Order: sequence, then C-alpha cells, then structure tokens
Amino acid sequence: KSGFVAIIGRPNVGKSTLLNRIVGEKIAIMSNKAQTTRNKIQGIYTTNEAQVVFIDTPGVHKPQNSLGDYMVKSAFSALHEADAIWFVVDASQKRGGGDNYIIDRLKEVTKTPIYLLVNKVDLLPKEELFEVIQSYQEDAPAWKEIFPISATEGDNVPELLETVIGDL
Ligand code: GDP
Ligand code: MG
Repeated sequence: KSGFVAIIGRPNVGKSTLLNRIVGEKIAIMSNKAQTTRNKIQGIYTTNEAQVVFIDTPGVHKPQNSLGDYMVKSAFSALHEADAIWFVVDASQKRGGGDNYIIDRLKEVTKTPIYLLVNKVDLLPKEELFEVIQSYQEDAPAWKEIFPISATEGDNVPELLETVIGDL
C-alpha cells in the first residue's frame, strides 16, 4: 500500500510535531531535497506493508493580495491530488477564523477523504472533547473519520496511521 497524505491546518496546531513523531528525523533530510513546485514532501513513513508520503500545504492563511491568492490556490490544488487529507485542529482552542477559512476550502474537495485530527487532547478535560468535536461537525465537510490525538504524547497516533493506511 502506498499513497500521498496532505496535512493542513492553521499555524501552531501541531502539524510538525505530529509528522516528527511519525517520520522522525527523515523530515529534515526530505525537506532539503525533494520538492515540487506545488508542495513539499515533508517525510516518508515506510513499513513492510506500506509507504506513506506526507506533503504539506503551505500558505493556507487568507490571502492578502493576488500573489497570495495564487499561492494559496496552488497550495490547495495539492489537496485534490492527495490520496487522503489530514486536517489538524487544536482541541485546546475554540474553532476560529483560521480554521473556518481552511474548512471553507475543504468543502470544495470532493473526492479526497478528509480526516479530522483533533490534536492536543492532553490539554483538554475529557468531558469537553465531545463539544470540541461537535463544533467541527457543523458547517463542515463530512469527515471520513475523526481522531482525537496528542502529537506530543502519541495518543491515538498508531491507530490513526493504521486506519489511514488501511483506507489507502
Ligand atoms: P504547526 O505550526 O502546526 O507545525 O505546529 P507545531 O508542531 O510547531 O506545534 C506548535 C506548538 O504546539 C509546539 O509548542 C508544540 O510543542 C505544541 N504541540 C503540538 N502538539 C501538541 C500536543 O499534542 N499537545 C500539546 N500539549 N502541545 C502540542
Ligand atoms: Mg509546522
């Protein structure tokens, strides 16, 4: 099994931390070498059964001018080409404008399965998790699966990988 996974989310939600946990120091090696015009390979996760290539989607903030607009459109085109999308949000903060901007773009993605990763659950009292997840189900695309995770602690990350690889 092999495929491309595009990771998206506003700054500081934990995308790099998650990738580091999954592919470790290979990230630094890859990001220096492999690069396409549209997206950067951030790392490759390899096991006997699977190879997953992670790509980032840079510049996903709201564009301020036409160059920015062009760059954002290019970045989002990677989403249509990926085999799966991981949309990462921060469980310790309320859904905000930065999240909503990305969610609006994700609504235009029709064929690629989108996984909602609710990160930093270690910062959240367990009883608040349901409410956080619910806030990302209103006015949003239909998530393929929802994973509460902690990129720093590793909670639920093996299960996430297993599921996504199974769906490739
Ligand atoms: P990125 O901008 O989305 O790549 O976010 P980073 O991976 O750089 O993480 C931003 C900050 O959030 C860093 O200080 C991380 O240590 C912290 N962080 C990332 N994941 C977690 C998590 O699961 N739990 C907690 N408590 N902090 C996290
Ligand atoms: Mg980062």
